[in-house]
Amino acid sequence: MRRMGKYTAHVAVLASAVGISLAAWGATALVGEDERAAPAAGGAAAPKLPAQRAGGADKPARPTIRVPEGIAHAAEAGGRAVNITIDDGPDPRWTPKMLDILKEHDVKAVFCMIGPQAQRHPDLVKRVVAEGHRLCDHTMTHDTTMDRKSVAYQKQQILDARKLIEEAAGGAEVQYYRAPGGAFTPDSRKVAAAAGMRPLGWNVDTKDFERPGAAAIVATVKDELSNGPTILFHDGGGDRSQSVAALREVLPWLKGQGRTFGFPVRTAPDTP
Ligand SMILES: [Zn+2]
Repeated sequence: MRRMGKYTAHVAVLASAVGISLAAWGATALVGEDERAAPAAGGAAAPKLPAQRAGGADKPARPTIRVPEGIAHAAEAGGRAVNITIDDGPDPRWTPKMLDILKEHDVKAVFCMIGPQAQRHPDLVKRVVAEGHRLCDHTMTHDTTMDRKSVAYQKQQILDARKLIEEAAGGAEVQYYRAPGGAFTPDSRKVAAAAGMRPLGWNVDTKDFERPGAAAIVATVKDELSNGPTILFHDGGGDRSQSVAALREVLPWLKGQGRTFGFPVRTAPDTP
């Protein structure tokens, strides 16, 4: 018992050390990438960061990379790659179903999440990250008229959501920003890019949000894929059973067309 006790204590110390360095890594990212996001940076922890970083954290400090302000549509891999993007979640009913289908076909996607929903469902956010998908900030309240509101309002919508999503994810980076309804502005793109999030557009709107039937959603993908590689689905905002059914058909069809799957460009220019 005593030996077990020591062992357990040792493991606990290791675990807590890892926890601290992970937490420091998350805080470093927030402070390093967007100094203007001071309220999100967790203030007091910041001064300790250099020592902890030097102390051999498993994860290297996040490199400071310049993220362009231009809206991305292109695939990182280029060629025949397509980008599956899934908006308005996470949702406990639909997101797991989408994840199951993606896993079954070994496809990675981008999930554009609403901040408070991410906060309510951290298990789903962590699963998204653990299964190799990327995170995207889809604001706090999905205000599709935010392009007509103040810069301060837009900034709050974007940075507050990023904080909630990153916290729910356990520190994983939010790599893209998609404006609700595509309501981007030059200011919101600038805010997002300065925070390390590439503005993300789409080429194929499956219209799945309007529930036209799974067959119609699939048909839209087939008809409009020549527009470009970034395809928009939804896993939140209502009954998404048609979206789930359509994704289940679309992925094998795309593979049959010789398409591969990847992520939208993040740091590269948006070259088609
Ligand atoms: Zn949306």
